[in-house]
Amino acid sequence: MSSKLQAPRGTFDVLPAGAPARAAVEAAAKSILEAAGYRRIETPMFEQTELFARGVGEATDIVQKEMYSFEGFSLRPEGTAPVCRAYLEHGMHKLAQPVKLWYLGAFFRHERPQAGRYRQFWQVGAEAIGSEDPSVDAELIVLLHALLGELGARELRLRIASLGTPASRAGYRELLQAYLREHSDALSEETRKRIDLNPLRAFDAKDPGTQRVMEGAPRLADHLDQDDREHFAQVTDLLARAGVEWQQDDRLVRGLDYYTRTIFEFSSDALGAQSGVGGGGRYDGLIEQLGGPATPGCGWAAGVERMLMAAEERPQPEPGCDLFVAWESTERADAFALATEGRRAGLAAQLDLAGRSVKGQMKQADRAGARYVAILYPDGTVLRDMDSGEEEKVERSGVVAGVLKGRHAL
Ligand code: AMP
Repeated sequence: MSSKLQAPRGTFDVLPAGAPARAAVEAAAKSILEAAGYRRIETPMFEQTELFARGVGEATDIVQKEMYSFEGFSLRPEGTAPVCRAYLEHGMHKLAQPVKLWYLGAFFRHERPQAGRYRQFWQVGAEAIGSEDPSVDAELIVLLHALLGELGARELRLRIASLGTPASRAGYRELLQAYLREHSDALSEETRKRIDLNPLRAFDAKDPGTQRVMEGAPRLADHLDQDDREHFAQVTDLLARAGVEWQQDDRLVRGLDYYTRTIFEFSSDALGAQSGVGGGGRYDGLIEQLGGPATPGCGWAAGVERMLMAAEERPQPEPGCDLFVAWESTERADAFALATEGRRAGLAAQLDLAGRSVKGQMKQADRAGARYVAILYPDGTVLRDMDSGEEEKVERSGVVAGVLKGRHAL
């Protein structure tokens, strides 16, 4: 017995009715990011698994459990490591720094599907590589804020924190590990297992016992060095200057290992459990981790589906139709030629493709929202203005010019 074929679990089809809203996200991202000097980059859908193991981090959930891997390659679970790989591979350090790039594409994570969480999802992302100036962090955050605003995302919150440099974090990590070991009896099994590899994730734990322990845990914010504090203060000052509201959240943890200094996340209270709309941060060690020279960088990624869920639904215009060519029995070839002529002249033109009666074709023209219908009979041609209902006999050779003229008159 054959089973019913369906899209894989955690994936979805974008049907024509859903396409315009997604196109609007792309258009907004392009206009906002390119106006600020970011240029589009596209990288492959899959990369060597090692890129993510080294870039995202061996100890992360993404690398440990969520990648679709085959023959030494993995479907990309995120975009920053691939963009940094491309920066290195194409010698972009020779360009004026920072190199500012943006992308839009599909990403893949083998997560448990739920509302707003898919196994194939789309992200818009932006990366600025090659400068550690706090204005880079602030610019990126302001641009994501602008994109979310443009899309009408509701009830937004921006949380921000500093993770410090690896040096200041290393000292803190030991402190936190010692604290976690001291309280290990009260921790969840999962948190206990992560003490060595990823102690910071304990702040993210859902289990109440662990959460209680974490309330008394030492905070990274209290252990940053002077330069980190200064960098963070400058980022937040610039945000204030741009009128972007933010909250400091020292429990902010992100699921990727490469972050240093600034990390941030926009969430929407209009969403359910999966409330993260977009986030990112600074990754000054990543390029080195991938085998390149020490190169600072900063970036973010925002989920297309989450942004649309957080946005007020807006009516999207249907594609228009200037001319519908209807035809009777013998006139098919002429109708086909006329629709082609219309398209070449820049009209949105359609014709009947299903052998309908003239009456059926008129209904189809109406459904298509046609402005004019040319009806080709064996003994002549009629042009109907669908707004006024007026009909006139015309020369076939004059139909396209007539519709163009009518369109200009509007
Ligand atoms: P991340 O790369 O984990 O920092 O995620 C950045 C953004 O991508 C999140 O804020 C979400 O909007 C979106 N995102 C991440 N994972 C998923 C997923 N499995 N399904 C849908 N959107 C996701």
